[in-house]
Parts: sequence; C-alpha cells; structure tokens
Amino acid sequence: MSEKVLDCVVAEVKDCRKCLLWKTRKNAVSGEGNSKSKIMLVGEAPGRQEDLTGRPFVGAAGKFLETLLDEIGLSRNDVFICNVLKCRPPQNRQPRPDEIQTCTPYLNMQIKALKPRVVVTLGNHSTAHVFAEVSLPFKGITQAHGKPQKATIAGRKVTIFPTYHPAAALYNGAYRKQLTEDFQVLRKMLAGE
Ligand code: URA
Ligand code: SF4
Repeated sequence: MSEKVLDCVVAEVKDCRKCLLWKTRKNAVSGEGNSKSKIMLVGEAPGRQEDLTGRPFVGAAGKFLETLLDEIGLSRNDVFICNVLKCRPPQNRQPRPDEIQTCTPYLNMQIKALKPRVVVTLGNHSTAHVFAEVSLPFKGITQAHGKPQKATIAGRKVTIFPTYHPAAALYNGAYRKQLTEDFQVLRKMLAGE
C-alpha cells in the first residue's frame, strides 16, 4: 500500500507542471530509499547534481549526509530521503513560499504513505514546513536544531528531529560540528536511550 502511494508520487512528480520550476528542471527528484524505513530525511530542494540525475542528495551535501549517517550506523538504504521541493530552483536560489505551498502536497503524501517514526528535517525550509503541518511553533533552525519534538501525523505518533542542512556545513565548521553532535543525539534517540 505505502509502496504504491510512493510510486504514485514518483509518477506524478515526474511530469508535474504545477509551479514554474518545471520549466528549468532537467529531472524532477521525488525522493528515494527504503519504503519500509521508519526514518525519513527531508532536505530543501534538488541541487545541480540532483537535477541532472533525478536522485536526492547525490552531490557534495549528499556525500556529507552519507558520512553523518555512517557515523550513526546507518546507510542510505536504511532511510527514505526526499526534499520539500521536487524540482531545482534556478541557480539553487531559495525556494519561494508559493513554490513550497504548491509542491508540499507531494511531501505530505510521502509522509503519510511511509508512516515514519522519525522525520529528520534538514535546515530551515524543511523544518518550517513540517513544524507548520503539525502546528508546532518555529523560531528558526538555530533554536530548534537537535531538539526532538513529538507530534501526530495522520493519527500516528511521530518524532520530528530538526537539524541543520548538510550543505550549510560544507562551508562552515561550526555547523558541521553541530550537525555531527545532533546526529549523535539522533542515534541515542533511535536506540531508545
Ligand atoms: N540539498 C538538498 O536540500 N537536497 C538535495 O537533494 C541536495 C542538496
Ligand atoms: Fe511540481 Fe513541485 Fe516541481 Fe513545482 S517543484 S513543478 S510543484 S514537482
């Protein structure tokens, strides 16, 4: 059932023209991973490499994300990875509110289909959207990161775990350290410690 819905999102996103980003994309990037996973990671939007390949987090930020996962004993195959926007904004500009509003029904469908126990939100846009969906107040990623939040999505209990975006950490050692520390909090949380 959940796999069918996830496949359906892939098919719809592939030819979607609901916002203008379809005009400049090479490939839509719906998301991928283990459809039985209880852990979902949500990034911001595809970058250049993602647009070229149609796969999420395959560029430099993706490499760092893989390292972070590896450090807590997980691989890409253990999780489901997707983004708030499914098409790349030109020159990697910030997603616009209207684009987020138009595209996030796909993400919401993915969350409802996968039924994750933990949703790891990577960066401001992802955290802002997921917090808003469950009516949690959001005052920015600097305040929110590393603090798990309990919520209910479609009648199921879920923990939202906000952290920084791995791309931010590529150019900033302080973010890198914070992300690494946040992932250790995540590891303990997943282990039930
Ligand atoms: N940054 C994101 O937010 N998502 C990707 O898929 C790649 C880079
Ligand atoms: Fe459709 Fe989302 Fe791509 Fe816009 S960004 S065209 S809403 S899939």
